[in-house]
Amino acid sequence: MKGSMRREKYDVVIVGSGPAGLGAAFYLARHSRLRILIVEKRVISSGGLRNDCKQNYTYPVGFPEELWEEEEAEDLLKIVESELKPNFMASHNIGIYKRRAEKLGVKLLEIKQAHVGTDNAVRLIHSLTSELEGLGVVFSFKEEALRLDGKTLVTNKRSIDFESIIVAPGRAGFSFLQRWMDDLGISYVDNVVDIGIRLEMKEENYPIVRDYYDPKFVFPNKTRTFCTNSGAAYVVKEKYDGYYSVNGHSFSSKRKRNGLVNFAVLRTIRLTDPIRSGQEYAAILGKAAMQVGGGNPIMQRIGDFRMGKRSKLANFNEDLYDFEPTLYVTPGDIALTCPAKILREIWSSLKKLDTIIPGVLHPSTIIYYPEIKMYANRPIFIDHHFSVKEGVYFIGDGAGTSRGITAAWASGIRAAQGILKGI
Ligand SMILES: Cc1cc2nc3c(=O)[nH]c(=O)nc-3n(C[C@H](O)[C@H](O)[C@H](O)COP(=O)(O)OP(=O)(O)OC[C@H]3O[C@@H](n4cnc5c(N)ncnc54)[C@H](O)[C@@H]3O)c2cc1C
Repeated sequence: MKGSMRREKYDVVIVGSGPAGLGAAFYLARHSRLRILIVEKRVISSGGLRNDCKQNYTYPVGFPEELWEEEEAEDLLKIVESELKPNFMASHNIGIYKRRAEKLGVKLLEIKQAHVGTDNAVRLIHSLTSELEGLGVVFSFKEEALRLDGKTLVTNKRSIDFESIIVAPGRAGFSFLQRWMDDLGISYVDNVVDIGIRLEMKEENYPIVRDYYDPKFVFPNKTRTFCTNSGAAYVVKEKYDGYYSVNGHSFSSKRKRNGLVNFAVLRTIRLTDPIRSGQEYAAILGKAAMQVGGGNPIMQRIGDFRMGKRSKLANFNEDLYDFEPTLYVTPGDIALTCPAKILREIWSSLKKLDTIIPGVLHPSTIIYYPEIKMYANRPIFIDHHFSVKEGVYFIGDGAGTSRGITAAWASGIRAAQGILKGI
């Protein structure tokens, strides 16, 4: 009919082409003849694979332990590995760090890890999408899922009927998922949030990265190191609703090294009565940091932090502080805005880290604040395969079934297995 929207039918529609969506698509395409469509609102298959793309292949890194048993996660990680074909980086000489850590009640996780790099990630994505197309999966880019109407997905372009739908819009899609949960009457629980800082330092002050690319230290009090970048490593800021969070990434080994390292130290917060929303709490902290930073995150040299004084722009140029920040934000005092409890625990973790790797708290090291990781409210799943109602699956970082690339991919496999069980 003239003027009416196109209407089509697929067995499975996948919303989002991040690792969760791709993981589901590969598994379904390899194990069935189902007609599969991936709807992606951006111009290329994107999501978190486009970022730094460190792939971790050891449970529990990236896996929320409430939803994942080690045995199943390790089994699915083997499938993820067979698709992503990682080049694992060896870690050497870490015994000394491990022993020092143990004495302080800190764990250094030994994990299987591969690093693709921001520049190589795009090539990886292209090869994954063309492989999927070769397996018969249809991609539709620049198409945004808007709402569900029974077994029909309405997008900005058309209506698509489906038997099953897998929804994987990622962390940035959390308000979208919330709207769908409200519309579909799906119950949910508020999820945890991670709040912390990012440190940037000279590589010589954190030499462990020469032996172990992304060392994962787990401190007491739910504090951990996260997302370490070295080689050609940069701190970046990401825009959220009302505030910026810092983050980090690095390029592959082809880029010129800048001699710097950055990594986050995050404290996991789960709030109970009377403040029930971790997300609202995190957003308030993000906005408070913007108030103090004049609309930007704050940076402070450790030397100033130790002396309890704010950093000024001059502190980023003087001879004593012999490297420039890779992200220029507002010089200031983090203690003015980060809650005491969080800061105390992070600082106590950093002192332990400095005992394990002397030098990390060199006066020149820069602290950036805030780094906030938010996850959507987690739906109440009705089965093991992350289904929220018959034929509807919510997966990936947005739905709280993962916190990293490989775990997101594994969530996709778990949902796909649910669909295959039912046919
Ligand atoms: C800067 C940065 C660096 C990171 N580095 C690492 C790392 O090194 N290692 C690691 O393991 N993890 C890393 N992560 C986390 C990792 O990116 C996520 O864990 C992972 O991408 C989650 O996968 P996902 O498929 O759930 O979501 P995403 O990867 O976010 O993918 C969601 C996709 O859905 C699409 N989408 C959203 N809404 C709609 C809609 N309505 N209609 C159509 N499409 C939609 C989005 O465009 C996107 O392509 C990083 C994250 C960031 C932000």
